[in-house]
Amino acid sequence: MRVICDMSRFVARMTLIIQCSDRCERKQARANLSGASLVRQRASPWPVVPGPSTKVAEEMTTDNWEAVERCEVCRATKFRRLGEVSDRLYRTTGRFTLVRCVGCGLTFINPRPTMKEIGLFYPTEYTEYQAPLTPRLRRWEEDKGRPGAKMGPWRRLVAFINERMSYRMIPPYQGEGRLLDVGCASGEFLDKMRLLGWQTYGVERSPAAAEIACRNGHRVLVSDIENGLPIPEASFDLVYCWHVLEHLHSPLRALREMARLLAPGGRLVLAVPNFGSFQAKLFGRFWSKLEPPRHLFHFDKNTLRALLRHGGFEPQSMTTRTGATSYCRSFRLLINAVLGTRFMRDPAAAVFLFEIPVFIASLFNNLGLGSDIRVVCRKA
Ligand SMILES: [Zn+2]
Repeated sequence: MRVICDMSRFVARMTLIIQCSDRCERKQARANLSGASLVRQRASPWPVVPGPSTKVAEEMTTDNWEAVERCEVCRATKFRRLGEVSDRLYRTTGRFTLVRCVGCGLTFINPRPTMKEIGLFYPTEYTEYQAPLTPRLRRWEEDKGRPGAKMGPWRRLVAFINERMSYRMIPPYQGEGRLLDVGCASGEFLDKMRLLGWQTYGVERSPAAAEIACRNGHRVLVSDIENGLPIPEASFDLVYCWHVLEHLHSPLRALREMARLLAPGGRLVLAVPNFGSFQAKLFGRFWSKLEPPRHLFHFDKNTLRALLRHGGFEPQSMTTRTGATSYCRSFRLLINAVLGTRFMRDPAAAVFLFEIPVFIASLFNNLGLGSDIRVVCRKA
């Protein structure tokens, strides 16, 4: 009951902030928030998906979808049509047109569902929104991420190889250990980082996923980062944004907000699928990371670097990585299309088999052809 009361009070406060059109009033309202100000917000415009979203999406029309007039990276207005794609991964309804900017090569869905509608394409079984398992740190994660970590050459090599093979990077501890995970979903990464001593904060669009993260003790704001967050500037030592930027309606506005939230010397650690990867070229429209319309944008190293600079960041390192799961998943989508089957899961044995092409693909990672791009940035 007390939690509900706390939440109600917070909703009232957030509503006050949102309703304040005057800048000064908004500032005052923010100042009235107690403590660290990052709390559980429930007054979100994000729609709660009632049951499987496929049903809802079937009833949608494309009439009120929005057209993207200008390129997010170079502001050009001419785009070349690449073709139509559909959601082969979760089988939500609709066909989406992929276009490529003639100015810079950024690829994106155009027209697209609005921010209000896009939640309908995130099914209840969406992987990232499920409750995370009990967090467990692997040896290399602890070696690399614990405060004051010092490693000998051998342990450093082991950590380097493991990180190149793993889905996530573990950033070294820094500053006062204030971490914001943008698009934290149900808080799996936050769980792990808390074990390493970080103060964990998140922003998440899905109220259901955010609630799981809150229940596990993280401070999560239900909001869209593109619209700005009611948090003072320079509040974090690390902003982590892992496979989220491609989901956002304005990655540029999101990056500018992340830059505002970072303390001097803080870092942004970010990953997106690599549209310039060998895997993307190999599988074409069956590439699992196309994920229309959840993935609104597709970056390669050049477009991502340009966007980061516009957003106020200077990339310090940019690497690529390939995972067995995305190979297996893309192959499954291809099989389903060719044979008319409806396989929805990747058996562990099949993923294991794909470790072989992944090992071969890892030889291409140094050429920038891996299926994910990972960047560590400082504020420019
Ligand atoms: Zn462009």
